[in-house]
Amino acid sequence: MKTINDFNFENKKALIRVDFNVPLNESSEVTDDTRIQAAKPTIIKILEDGGSAVLMSHLGRPKGVQEEFSLRHIVAEVSDVLGVQVKFVANCIGAEAEAAVANLNPGEVLLLENLRFYTEETKGDVAFAKQLSALGDIYVNDAFGTAHRAHASTTIIAQFFTDKKCFGSLLAKEIESIDKVLASGEKPITAVLGGSKVSSKITIIESILDKVDHLIIGGGMTYTFVKAQGGTVGNSICEDDYQEMALDILKKAKAKGVQIHLPVDVLGADDFSNDANTQVLPVNAIPEGWEGLDAGPESIKNFHNVILDSKTILWNGPLGVFEMETFAKGTIALGHSIAEATEKGAFSLVGGGDSVAAVKQFGFGDKVSYVSTGGGAMLESLEGKVLPGIEAINN
Ligand code: AMP
Repeated sequence: MKTINDFNFENKKALIRVDFNVPLNESSEVTDDTRIQAAKPTIIKILEDGGSAVLMSHLGRPKGVQEEFSLRHIVAEVSDVLGVQVKFVANCIGAEAEAAVANLNPGEVLLLENLRFYTEETKGDVAFAKQLSALGDIYVNDAFGTAHRAHASTTIIAQFFTDKKCFGSLLAKEIESIDKVLASGEKPITAVLGGSKVSSKITIIESILDKVDHLIIGGGMTYTFVKAQGGTVGNSICEDDYQEMALDILKKAKAKGVQIHLPVDVLGADDFSNDANTQVLPVNAIPEGWEGLDAGPESIKNFHNVILDSKTILWNGPLGVFEMETFAKGTIALGHSIAEATEKGAFSLVGGGDSVAAVKQFGFGDKVSYVSTGGGAMLESLEGKVLPGIEAINN
């Protein structure tokens, strides 16, 4: 795996694909700079080598050129984070962009306009990628969030740099972390899969059965598994079409020697609301009019024991409807368990959408080994897919 550490950028112009798809408020101010902070180490290393950085990113989903999606809005924030006055050019290809790059001196940073002002970007247009490639000597991909897309700036462009291409430190860390879980993880390896639906996680579950010793299944997925085994789930979220598949997963897990842990009790509610009446119920005997919205105390204890015995932990998806305080206890307890195991030396990776939000919301971000920055890209990695953006650098 080639990274920025394999290059000296002195007097070189690095063309860096970053993920600056940051949230903006109504006054077009950046409300969360996590993604800019995440790209900082790569940019700083290049500047410290004596190189210059040409940054390219998308922002939102513009339809053609739309001022509200201009990356101009984030120049001040990027300058603040980097401690360098960032230059901006109102195009990402063509004479204007090429002139701005030609005028760039070592130690300077140039931000190009939103790549998605051109539909060629998401189409993976080769001619557009070639035009982009004229804007740097070395191509650096540091955008994990878009690594699962074969877009012009994330994948197609790499062919124009033969051996002058590499991963930025953020993307390298993402790859290493996934590898530490799925390829070289110390046993016992435990995956916790929560979230709402079996249908959206089925490919991950199937792929992960070959990698892990323990699989904890929680959240809304629980009830499809419970009903398939003859339990009564009341009004809990349940995908009847997936009952066969759930039984098949249990069978496959048994054959592969993977221990599956499902909740044994749940926090039931008589309404999908924070103020609902609640009671702890056995997972397989939820009466009509009640639904399971969080893991119960016995389940939390069981999961804690499995997690504390693990040396490698992957967490994707909450154990309950954590957005409502009443049903956040299971997810918070799981965060505590993973934090404790990590402190004792386990490697823990949190990735994919809502579990990342939960980890941040409840303050576990710095108590786990790594929190992934890419939702869809992480999910596709867990499904066992080779991401096009990663393959393009490795080829
Ligand atoms: P996902 O995007 O599939 O990871 O699902 C995340 C969502 O699952 C969160 O918004 C949770 O509120 C929801 N969720 C977790 N547990 C349950 C449950 N028991 N019933 C309904 N929704 C749930």
